[in-house]
Amino acid sequence: MTARIIDGKTIAQQVRAEWKVRADALKARGITPGLAVIIVGEDPASKVYVANKVKACAELGLHSEHIMLSADIPEANLLARIAELNNDTKIHGILVQLPVPKHIDSNKVLEAINPDKDVDGFHPENVGALVTGNMRFAPCTPYGAMVLLEKCGISIEGKHAVVVGRSNIVGKPMALMLLQANATVTICTSKTQDLAKFTRDADILVVATGKPKMITGNMIKPGAAVIDVGINRLPDGKLCGDVDFDSAKEVAGWITPVPGGVGPMTITMLVANTVRAAERISGFGK
Ligand code: NDP
Repeated sequence: MTARIIDGKTIAQQVRAEWKVRADALKARGITPGLAVIIVGEDPASKVYVANKVKACAELGLHSEHIMLSADIPEANLLARIAELNNDTKIHGILVQLPVPKHIDSNKVLEAINPDKDVDGFHPENVGALVTGNMRFAPCTPYGAMVLLEKCGISIEGKHAVVVGRSNIVGKPMALMLLQANATVTICTSKTQDLAKFTRDADILVVATGKPKMITGNMIKPGAAVIDVGINRLPDGKLCGDVDFDSAKEVAGWITPVPGGVGPMTITMLVANTVRAAERISGFGK
């Protein structure tokens, strides 16, 4: 069997076009959704991510502000900058690029963002909303993975979904969203004994470990949908996922490539959350 490839690039374009319609509807009422992205310090990878976020906003005609702060900014000054953005009517979404320098408490930063503008979905109030099944802003990467499943017509209800990884930004919210969609969910971690026993039973397998190619074809149930969230840079400079694509695609029914699978969806869902935030704040839209 050769798996069908889940083309994240094409699906991301389609989803952006859908959200552009909603953004245009707001603009017709005089509201331009606005995103502020704060980056603290000079991390080159973060700079690339932020540039891509700003570009995606421009593509949908959104207002965006790219705020660069020096690595040694006192925590209080960063919190004050966030407070200004909380009160800025041009801004509907605020995102602080993580990680922040060690002298800054990232929890305090996430809690300082107005939950109504928390387009990353990391504020405890929004995490609580996700846990109780009243999702407001879903964290962008797992949200993108859910949209990929939906757009490919892969049914979730009643299926066994196995999530490998339990980070706050991917694994845990992914598991909660699958649970909300009525999957039976198993979460595996680095402490799980006999990982393959669980992965081989998965109808839907989501892998977010940061361990290159750790899931191989013999760990996958024939016909399963495999969502590979991992992005790893190999010594030869190439990118690869947490799943061994070559062996996995011979067994799986569906699989995301890396790059070109989950990656393009993350920024797309950030833009979507920004439009949704503008709809909620302005009282227009869905
Ligand atoms: P973290 O390092 O925060 O979490 C990794 C998780 O994987 C942990 O819960 C860890 O378990 C678990 N894990 C590690 N090794 C194993 C193992 N051998 N068996 C089972 N579980 C294991 O990573 P993130 O969640 O932030 O990211 C995961 C991957 O996704 C990375 O490659 C990252 O680059 C990528 N990523 C991609 C994004 C995208 O846009 N496509 C966005 C965000 C991340 P434990 O808790 O026990 O330590």
